[in-house]
Amino acid sequence: MTSAADYLPSTPTLDELRAAVEGCRGCPLYACATRVVFGEGPADAVAMFVGDAPTAEEDRAGRPFLGPPGRLLERALAEVGIDRTEVYVTNVVKHARGEPRGRRRTQCAPDDAHVAACRPWLDAELAVVRPAVLVCLGAAAARAVLGEGFRVRRQRGVFLPSPLAPHVLATVHPSAVLRARGEEARRVVYTRFVDDLARVAERLRAVHAGV
Ligand code: SF4
Repeated sequence: MTSAADYLPSTPTLDELRAAVEGCRGCPLYACATRVVFGEGPADAVAMFVGDAPTAEEDRAGRPFLGPPGRLLERALAEVGIDRTEVYVTNVVKHARGEPRGRRRTQCAPDDAHVAACRPWLDAELAVVRPAVLVCLGAAAARAVLGEGFRVRRQRGVFLPSPLAPHVLATVHPSAVLRARGEEARRVVYTRFVDDLARVAERLRAVHAGV
């Protein structure tokens, strides 16, 4: 497999990256996706949120964190005082893995080779945005960003050392809340998710205050 590195412009802006990713053939996923899903948000965002891969809805629209998971993320961020429009949101892999089946799409997780091939795009987004706080959403994103040794049960919700940003934390993906069975289970997963985001909000306040 080749790599996205061959398709990256040198010293790019976000707009240049967004244009270049349209032509990426760094792994086979471009051939089965409907649209590329690049990150969204201000180039000077202080916080970046990274999920694993585009959902079927994101694949159709070409935008990250749409549909029920996106709305839930927005609601949880609002609860802790973070405005979604002020943060940068993206995925580790920019094309969805799956294929059309009639009017629907099969959807499956990217494998390690896809994640590795696509990594240059995330590194380029990090290099442009240079967020003070980087938040991995879900175990797959956390392992892709923080390494295979990451364990979401033990390490979620705590700031971990990483060369990628001054403050790095992982929590669950908002879709974990939606997948929980039953109202009470969803409430518990959502509450812990909001607790983790509250730590992010607290750290952002400290960053803004220059602490
Ligand atoms: Fe390129 Fe990433 Fe899409 Fe693969 S998934 S074609 S590496 S943008």
